[in-house]
Amino acid sequence: MAGIRIYDFHETVYLSVIGSVKAGESPAETMKRIHLLAQQRAAKDISGQEASHMQCRRGCSHCCRVHVPVLCLEADSIAEYLLSSLSEESLETLKSKLRYIKVHIAGYDEQERIVANIPCGFLGSEGECLIHSVRPLVCRSVTSADSEACRRAMTMSVCEENAFIPMNITHKSIYDSAFIGLADAMKEMKIDCRSFEITEAVLYRLNKQIE
Ligand code: SF4
Repeated sequence: MAGIRIYDFHETVYLSVIGSVKAGESPAETMKRIHLLAQQRAAKDISGQEASHMQCRRGCSHCCRVHVPVLCLEADSIAEYLLSSLSEESLETLKSKLRYIKVHIAGYDEQERIVANIPCGFLGSEGECLIHSVRPLVCRSVTSADSEACRRAMTMSVCEENAFIPMNITHKSIYDSAFIGLADAMKEMKIDCRSFEITEAVLYRLNKQIE
């Protein structure tokens, strides 16, 4: 994932992840730390006025139709959350949905997925994110200042045209730095630091932990 790096914040996340892994914390605990660090940094670096321009909100899901790359610790943390919060029946329903999406997006690039209009497996029926409290860093990095531009961008993408979406670059840089800091720390700790599309990554862990 290409990202704009804020060096001191990258270092903060990197050291925090290494400390967390060395202390034997769970992926959920590690990710909670990172999310908190990023929220605190955003609160420090982004003024209230800038934050008020962000239009992302529950139910607005124009952007939830693209591939979402996640790192292994993020996928582990999401699977941990689902396993502890869903009933067996809901888990089976979710797994069927993820399997269906996995098959239908296989081999698709971003553009093809948007054209096929295949939403994220964690998108609820009212456009809400079903894993909001543990959603990936990439999802957290997006802060559109114009939801209509997001809708237009998806439509234009179908016509193979690029569209401009105004967003807060400081916010994006904080979460990009967190993603890179996490990946670098995982590499240092000899944890697989490749990113995978969220559908397959989480489904794999759910299957593995239920076996
Ligand atoms: S994880 Fe949540 S926020 Fe991210 S794409 Fe899926 S539904 Fe949208």
